[in-house]
Amino acid sequence: MTSRATAERLDRADPLARTRASFDIPPGVVYLDGNSLGALPRGVPRALDRTVRQWRDHLIKGWTDDGWLDAPTRTGDRVGRLLGAAPGQTVAGDSTSVQLFNALVTAARLRPERTVLLYDADGFPTDRYLASSVARLLGLELRPCRMGDMRAALEAYGQEVAVVLGAPVDFRTGELFDIAAITARAHRAGAVTVWDLCHAAGALPLSLDADGVDLAVGCGYKFLSGGPGAPAYLYVARRHRAAADQPLTGWLGHAAPFAMAAGYRPAEDMSRFRIGAPPMLSLSALDAALDVFDGVSVEDIRAKNTALGRFFIECFDEHLAGLGFGLVTPRAAERRSSQVTLSHPHASELMDGLAARGVLGDVRPPALLRFGFNSLYVSYTDIHHAVTVLAGLAAPDRHRPARTDAARRLIGETHVVQ
Ligand SMILES: *Cc1c(COP(=O)(O)O)cnc(C)c1O
Repeated sequence: MTSRATAERLDRADPLARTRASFDIPPGVVYLDGNSLGALPRGVPRALDRTVRQWRDHLIKGWTDDGWLDAPTRTGDRVGRLLGAAPGQTVAGDSTSVQLFNALVTAARLRPERTVLLYDADGFPTDRYLASSVARLLGLELRPCRMGDMRAALEAYGQEVAVVLGAPVDFRTGELFDIAAITARAHRAGAVTVWDLCHAAGALPLSLDADGVDLAVGCGYKFLSGGPGAPAYLYVARRHRAAADQPLTGWLGHAAPFAMAAGYRPAEDMSRFRIGAPPMLSLSALDAALDVFDGVSVEDIRAKNTALGRFFIECFDEHLAGLGFGLVTPRAAERRSSQVTLSHPHASELMDGLAARGVLGDVRPPALLRFGFNSLYVSYTDIHHAVTVLAGLAAPDRHRPARTDAARRLIGETHVVQ
């Protein structure tokens, strides 16, 4: 059953329905792209305003009196809770790309005698580009490998592998991979793992400590809703910290930054990974965004995005099958993350048509339509609406749904009302 009434019934029974009020989503917009840029949490403007006032009133003293210097580790620990990481192992700041560079070189330096960097061949571009650069920098041999083949690769030549780089979620298809199992296999071969959690944190239960993960990175602007260009995060397992020789030895990673010493001596604690001056405006936005996760369990978030995905697929079967679409995401709940990806030869035109009607998702090459479900603000009614609008656009002889006022505002069309 995929009627609007069913969607409304599911929304009424949804234990997370209340968290939608914590987000400021324009009326009339169905937002299914929170896996690319999370929606605005209502607490963020207030938090930004507070930091601006601290800056105005306390000037340089803000670094100490307002706790700015410790913000990377303080906010990092709050992200760590969502990663299954005990305090003192996560730092927030910089972009995922920068954190990934720092993590990859740090990981490779933990295995100086080894020669291979094994990485996810279908990974996000920044991961592949940085893997390539780090391999050139350190003289490592790059070996691309699909996530599904990682364990077999480690079986075959694991003794040569210094670092494994991959992700629990395929950013295009939403397919899920078992990073605990790959980590265990990598450790048996003596390799170190670096996981990119951009599409996982805030959407899926993670247990980095329990899984024995070595290093991980991820971004603050997707499911964490920290805002455009929000600080990313780096996790380094406590057992590696003392030996971790990071390439980005910024002054704020020093044990005594204000001693301005001649030589670098890394801090003993996680502030060793702070690099430079914390981006306080964006860190305060991310920190406020994390408030929404307080009192919400990641298991409930996962239960809901699993159910939203199932409902989307049921709607797909009923309304979209036969209109040229393919379902790219695996059907089985345990193999699918918090998004559903469809293929269609006219993916771009269809997504433009959806946007013009207030439904936002995104398109990824070659011809994929991607719909992300942030459990904190996406409803079953949103999904029903998105799929029926999409069906109307794809069926040439059906009535095409009209552009809404909200959509006109969104795409910047002037709408003159007489
Ligand atoms: C979004 C995303 C990134 C983004 O990197 P930034 O440097 O923070 O822009 C990196 N990796 C993956 C897997 C992503 O999905």
